[in-house]
Amino acid sequence: MTDIYADTPIPFSGDILDYAENERSPEQLQALIGKTSARAVLLFKGRIGIGDGGRPHRLHPSDLIGHDLMAPGPIFLGLEGERPIFAFSIAKPESFLPEENFVSLRGIGGNMRPTDLALAGRAKSLFAWHHLEKHCVTCGGQTVARDGGVKQKCTGCGAESFPRVNPVAIMLVTDGDRVLLGRGPGWPEGFMSALAGFISPGESLEGAAEREVTEEVGLKTKNPRYVFSQPWPFPAQLMIGLMLEAVTTDITIDPKELEDARWFTRDEVLAVFEKRGQAFMCPPRQTIAHQLLRHWLAETA
Ligand SMILES: [Zn+2]
Repeated sequence: MTDIYADTPIPFSGDILDYAENERSPEQLQALIGKTSARAVLLFKGRIGIGDGGRPHRLHPSDLIGHDLMAPGPIFLGLEGERPIFAFSIAKPESFLPEENFVSLRGIGGNMRPTDLALAGRAKSLFAWHHLEKHCVTCGGQTVARDGGVKQKCTGCGAESFPRVNPVAIMLVTDGDRVLLGRGPGWPEGFMSALAGFISPGESLEGAAEREVTEEVGLKTKNPRYVFSQPWPFPAQLMIGLMLEAVTTDITIDPKELEDARWFTRDEVLAVFEKRGQAFMCPPRQTIAHQLLRHWLAETA
């Protein structure tokens, strides 16, 4: 049996790249992409191309010459040691790999190394940004990618824009040896997870966590405590994990947000993790909700 208390890295975190912010002029990028050691990873419709050994397939950027590429062309993800790593979003997967080798990061996440996931997630988020935001928020003009795809510049007014990361508070509320989990409308039967919500302008992380819990399940809480965070590239969230203690325990569900919410005992959660109980279906390993539950089990062991 795997040790559920073992200190495992948080999936999607642990990015090992040096983003090389000062090596992104057109001349520098041209030199980097031409280096023999340079490598490219491939995306198709936001899915990552997987090669031998279940790791992202890598080839030399020059192998992409002449192939149809999605905007904005190659994105320079950063340096892995001395090795420049680029990402390409391709139009025709079968030129490189069978289409089924391009897999969703949601699906494969739990089986990939956190560092590979982090790299693939960075690529996915950056391509999603260029796909979703093609116009300047100031004047509506067309934007073009700059600095190897980590910046956009407006062709009208010259304003620069940067990829946005959206902070989300994700909370485990505890009451002694019980923990609160909820399920959103339309989730798979039996699936329960931590409560979560976007942080609003003007709000602190702690304030957002307490507000979301009150809105979703009608509980008052205290002592919000940061645990760890996780980049979540769907398309570009930062999930910020907290633990809170319940002050009140009677649940009143907001049906617009949740279909169900219940208290589970530590024994019930442990039994689910040890695959000998079925009180609920646990979020998969690549989610921060799973890691928060694991953390709580370890803390209360
Ligand atoms: Zn503009």
